[in-house]
Amino acid sequence: MSQVNSTNKALVLEQEDKKTIAEVRQLAASDLPEGDVLVNIDYSSLNYKDALAVTGAGKIVHQFPMVPGIDLAGTVAESASPDYKVGDAVVLTGWSVGERFWGGYAQQMRVQSKWLVPLDKGLSSKQAMTIGTAGLTSMLCVMRLQESGLKPKQGPVLVTGATGGVGSLVVALLAKNGFEVVAVSGKADSVDYLKQLGASEVLPRSEFEEKVRPLDKSRWAGAVDTVGGDILAKVLSQMNYDGRVATVGLAASFSLNTTVMPFILRGVDLLGVDSVMIPYERRVQAWARLARELPQEIMDQVSEEVGLEALPAYAQNMVEGKIKGRVLVNPNI
Ligand code: NDP
Repeated sequence: MSQVNSTNKALVLEQEDKKTIAEVRQLAASDLPEGDVLVNIDYSSLNYKDALAVTGAGKIVHQFPMVPGIDLAGTVAESASPDYKVGDAVVLTGWSVGERFWGGYAQQMRVQSKWLVPLDKGLSSKQAMTIGTAGLTSMLCVMRLQESGLKPKQGPVLVTGATGGVGSLVVALLAKNGFEVVAVSGKADSVDYLKQLGASEVLPRSEFEEKVRPLDKSRWAGAVDTVGGDILAKVLSQMNYDGRVATVGLAASFSLNTTVMPFILRGVDLLGVDSVMIPYERRVQAWARLARELPQEIMDQVSEEVGLEALPAYAQNMVEGKIKGRVLVNPNI
């Protein structure tokens, strides 16, 4: 017997006159895409990429109509895969879901089993999506820095875009791993929030928007940059000898105008971080570390829960850089 629900509410994107229209609709079973696993979705989340998709501010969606939502967590309702059975708790991030393939902003979605990861036993589906793609990516940044040899005793680590979904959790995870964390934020009222997450100091973004010199006074042993552009160029110019920078985002710009000086005179490493195509084993490893290292009070502190109807307004605020922390999406309210 099919486990497809008689009602399946979803946020659907259409394109009219090159504008993106977002509307909550009821999907029929026949509307769902092909896939070997049907998931009852408990939660999804709002990530920067989702905000670009829902508002149409960025070319994220490859074809319309599209159910966006680049991540989801829930339980298996139907499975033709030997790897999953009905009732299994699962999580999905990346693989172009919500961009090329229908995603998590629905009560049920049919997906490919190879995209799924079993939900770590230490996490609920709500916690998994409080973490979401942004949190998984934060952990990948920390893993990349640690695997490159960065140790707390080497000096402070800078985090840009620190109140964002990725930035907030990078601050918390680095602090949890014993690093001294210096946060950079454009929000004047974010100092208490960032200090509660574990930052020892919060610097205004304006300090990083001043003219970039090829080499500046060296200040940082490590950095995680979520914004790109001239801010990343500034960060590179301030790295200590042998410093390491994880580059993960483009909230300010996808361009990077810099010189070779930090690399050839200070031996700085620029480390790329991707969360979309990483292999299964690395996903499992990152989720297990997140379950161990992110305390519940941090998750409560960084998250706000919204339904599908309210999502487009939150997406607009995110594009405008006004959101603090993580937005948890509950399609069942
Ligand atoms: P958010 O919108 O939650 O956070 C971005 C933060 O960047 C904002 O909160 C703000 O922080 C800062 N910011 C926003 N606009 C600007 C600007 N014009 N100039 C400088 N700083 C700005 O997004 P996420 O945290 O979800 O994602 C951050 C970035 O990481 C995005 O570019 C996203 O696409 C990318 N990303 C990449 C992934 C990958 O696999 N490589 C996966 C997930 C995300 P503040 O006000 O504190 O300065």
